[in-house]
Amino acid sequence: MTPSFSASVLTLYPEIFPGPLGYSLAGRALKEGIWSLDTIPIRDFATDRHHTVDDTPSGGGAGMVMRADILARSLDYACQQKPQLPVLAMTPRGYPLTQSKVRQLASGPGAIILCGRFEGIDERLFEARSIEPISIGDYILSGGETAAFTLLDACIRLLPGVMGGTTSGDEESFESGLLEYPQYTRPVEWEGLSIPEVLRSGNHAHIKAWRQAMSERDTRLRRPDLWEHYRSVQVSRPLARGKKDRNEK
Ligand code: SAH
Repeated sequence: MTPSFSASVLTLYPEIFPGPLGYSLAGRALKEGIWSLDTIPIRDFATDRHHTVDDTPSGGGAGMVMRADILARSLDYACQQKPQLPVLAMTPRGYPLTQSKVRQLASGPGAIILCGRFEGIDERLFEARSIEPISIGDYILSGGETAAFTLLDACIRLLPGVMGGTTSGDEESFESGLLEYPQYTRPVEWEGLSIPEVLRSGNHAHIKAWRQAMSERDTRLRRPDLWEHYRSVQVSRPLARGKKDRNEK
């Protein structure tokens, strides 16, 4: 089987991979050849005896910066191997990773992913090569590898044939602009807590309405940013269409 999605990961720690992506859905899909993974050890492209890949920050400051020349050599090698793949770099200075970005990537041929370490990457690399900087959130990790796991995991579960029996995930958090409703499973009673009555009623219209209300409540409380956007989209819709959409739901 020719993989529909290939990942080439440039890293100082190739032995970390496939790591969590070797298990469960992603692991099975890797074995089945639905996606493929290459790791490219950045250190192999160093030129000195010590395989140096970093140097002190120009202008001063703590830590070390990954050298543009070494990174470019490793990246050019990856691009030669897989010229059709877009190039991403994991960095907290990047564009935020969202579910729609994940969908866009998952529908493409895969990605070359550059993982940073230390204080990050010499900025000239981004000027000299076509690279999309991507951030997985507003916090600082010690390396890009865990960010690459996150990005790849999110893409792989969307590839055709990976999620098997489940739906395309239309109702999941973010797909509708809201967080998903809370989930429950048996036992019906646990530590004096019951599964909400409505979910056991068998009345699908009531269940749908309850889930929508819970999604809205939790989004409003936990993610005022998403709620604001969701509300503004609802309000800007023409009235007639808004009514029709509500009835359809
Ligand atoms: N000094 C940098 C952070 C470096 S963290 C800054 O303040 O912007 C070291 C490496 O971890 C980065 O080069 C990047 O590859 C990765 N990393 C850290 N946080 C990340 C995030 N939120 N998203 C994606 N990659 C991240």
